[in-house]
Amino acid sequence: MVMVWSERSAIPGSLDQPAKNQVGIDVKRILLVEDDPMIGRSLTRALHEQGTLVDWALDAREAIEAWRTQRHEVVLLDLGLPDLSGVEVLRNAREENMATPVVVITARADVESRVAILDLGADDYIVKPFELRELFARVRAVLRRHQTASRSTVETGEIRIDLAMHTVSYRGKTLRLPTREFALLHVLVREVGKIVSREVIEKEIYLSPDEIGSNAVDVLIHNLRRKFDKDIIRNVRGAGWLVMRDPR
Ligand code: CA
Repeated sequence: MVMVWSERSAIPGSLDQPAKNQVGIDVKRILLVEDDPMIGRSLTRALHEQGTLVDWALDAREAIEAWRTQRHEVVLLDLGLPDLSGVEVLRNAREENMATPVVVITARADVESRVAILDLGADDYIVKPFELRELFARVRAVLRRHQTASRSTVETGEIRIDLAMHTVSYRGKTLRLPTREFALLHVLVREVGKIVSREVIEKEIYLSPDEIGSNAVDVLIHNLRRKFDKDIIRNVRGAGWLVMRDPR
């Protein structure tokens, strides 16, 4: 039987510490891939208790679909799934350049399996049975590594984006943009010299498809062009938009 958390830590206000002080990850949205209903329910409940939105996929097909359509800060991935293996889910994601940090949940404790999991691009793994607080500690560590690794500024030509301060420097001026305009400019500058399609932009700047209005991206682009030199963002008809490496 798999134990998700210990009996003692599951009792709020137990002599040790209240359960919620033992856990804690500051994550807004997580993808949980787990076909075992007991583990899935326990994890979902524990995550909900700290305000984390959980997309719970019960098989590989659902997992791939959710991974493609939503943005998650971390993926918890069980390997033994009813259709494809979790290994296939991970391979698929990495081949599609979906870089979300992944903590694999596995029943296989042998070294071969663990090495294979990490070689495929998982950030960490935890072996069943496990305690909730260890899983959360691993998630916290993975997110810390991920945040340190991602650069805090991106820039090209005359635009410099400070991700920590949420500001944009342009021709000696510092601008604060509305959240979506900022996110859109960030995507274009990060992918400087490449055409970025509407689909990619929508996926990056909206949390869910429901949030997308029919011409929302066009409105954001229009606003950005008014604030910067209009030629900074080029429209490539039918393909998307790009920021040139050396705008002239
Ligand atoms: Ca399983």
